[in-house]
Amino acid sequence: MIDKATSKKIINRLKKQYQVSAPLHFNNLYQLCIAVVLSAQTTDNQVNRVTPLLFKKYPDFYTLAQAHIDDVEEIIKSTGFYHNKAKHIVALAGTIVHTFNGVVPETREELMSLPGVGRKSANVILAFGFGIPAIPVDTHVSRVASRIGYANSRKPIAIEMAMMESIRKSDWIIAHLLFIYHGRTICHARKPACSRCPIISYCHFENKNL
Ligand code: SF4
Repeated sequence: MIDKATSKKIINRLKKQYQVSAPLHFNNLYQLCIAVVLSAQTTDNQVNRVTPLLFKKYPDFYTLAQAHIDDVEEIIKSTGFYHNKAKHIVALAGTIVHTFNGVVPETREELMSLPGVGRKSANVILAFGFGIPAIPVDTHVSRVASRIGYANSRKPIAIEMAMMESIRKSDWIIAHLLFIYHGRTICHARKPACSRCPIISYCHFENKNL
């Protein structure tokens, strides 16, 4: 467990280190919801490569809800798991149209009722679609947070709760982005570059790579 004062110092140091921005490209809530579902088990860059064509052909929930699955599969193939993802995004579009009158819901519970949307995806939509403080926990956030000492568990829900407890609410969204950047550039899964880590003095990881 990291106390609030230490947490503030960690976040401030990471803010100085990284200029962060939302990794998925989107212009509206429709595009965000679809990009988030496509981002499962692949990189955001990979998703950003296929979405321009997908959104050109299917510009909103209404057109995507009418799409043929095999056509959608062809466009999103390179993101992996494309059979399921195609089914999910077409079904998601249909659910938004028919159950939510074409409007993306603003609660985590409702978002998690959408096909292909789990807790992490719902948190991404809350954070970037509505500006509602949330902490989406992906593999980088989980690894970095547990190494620093936010939680003993690597379970996403435990990490999310621990970070919410220790980090001030106004920093939740940026904290998750900072941990992603830190995980990608310094706190690597196999060989973290601890010797050049700006938060090494706060990190409780026992196997630092020095
Ligand atoms: S000291 Fe090492 S393990 Fe800890 S956060 Fe920095 S890079 Fe990661």
